[in-house]
Amino acid sequence: MSFKDVVGQESAIAFLKAAFSCGRIAHAYIFVGPQGVGKSKAALNFAKLLFCESPSANEPCENCASCLKSNGSNHPDIQEVSPEGQFIKIDAIREACRKLSLRGFESSFKVLIITQAGALNEESSNALLKTLEEPTANTVIILMADTLKSVLPTIASRCQRVVFSILKQDVIESILIKQWGASRDAAAYLSMMSEGSLGAALRFHEDGLFSRKNDLIKNALDERCGLDGLLDLSSKERQDRQENIQEALFVLSSWFRDLLLAKTESRSFINIDKKDDIMRLARSFSFIEIEERLTRIADAAQDLKRNANARIALTRLRVDLWKQ
Ligand SMILES: [Zn+2]
Repeated sequence: MSFKDVVGQESAIAFLKAAFSCGRIAHAYIFVGPQGVGKSKAALNFAKLLFCESPSANEPCENCASCLKSNGSNHPDIQEVSPEGQFIKIDAIREACRKLSLRGFESSFKVLIITQAGALNEESSNALLKTLEEPTANTVIILMADTLKSVLPTIASRCQRVVFSILKQDVIESILIKQWGASRDAAAYLSMMSEGSLGAALRFHEDGLFSRKNDLIKNALDERCGLDGLLDLSSKERQDRQENIQEALFVLSSWFRDLLLAKTESRSFINIDKKDDIMRLARSFSFIEIEERLTRIADAAQDLKRNANARIALTRLRVDLWKQ
């Protein structure tokens, strides 16, 4: 894994490389950008570069003992803290900061990566703040956050900001085809569904979403097909039922979004492989009827997020989808 694997984030990577090449490494960085755009890869690679015994052209060498340990996720001077449940616990931050203040095991640097800084609550933020205010020499803290707003301003203001942007659709499409062997149709669909997140696109691809989605839509709209048909068509591998249902709702909403587009001049459909069906079906709904269905799907997704009973929420949704 090198910086080259962080696709479409040239400006963020150039910034990190420049800091390394001038020897001006900040005590703390905050990597800001949506999930799945390469923040984790960039953080690990930056840490790897700091520890590398013979870096060249601001890239880690990939061969020294440090690089091999970093690649195997067992470098003793790289710590990673993630949320346990909803929040990052204060004890986890205290322990990580204590380790940060000790001498490095194998290197002069020590790195702490906090993967979802938005999950720092007030207590754990305050514990981290002490270390940010009085950093130990040769320590680097990298926070990752979806948005800057999700982190307390007192924390964010002490970190150098590195912005990771949403990936362009054609970039994701090309990676899916070239590196992951996706078909053109699948790549086009998954890149649009991913909303700029390569991580999401790859998850959908590995999950076979493209090959399942047409059955999923067909069953959801077929009055004869029971509710279980909709649920059972979701991923067999992933156990998380809530996630499966949300995914099914996402697929359905992309379908109705296409029907809405068919009512306008635009033909930039997500379900481009079903263009003829979309054009035909759009004629049997009015603009308002499609809008209503989109609202119902969004409501159901929202209800499920609030832990509503899935069966009741989906039964209600199906009644709304079928009604004339
Ligand atoms: Zn190396």
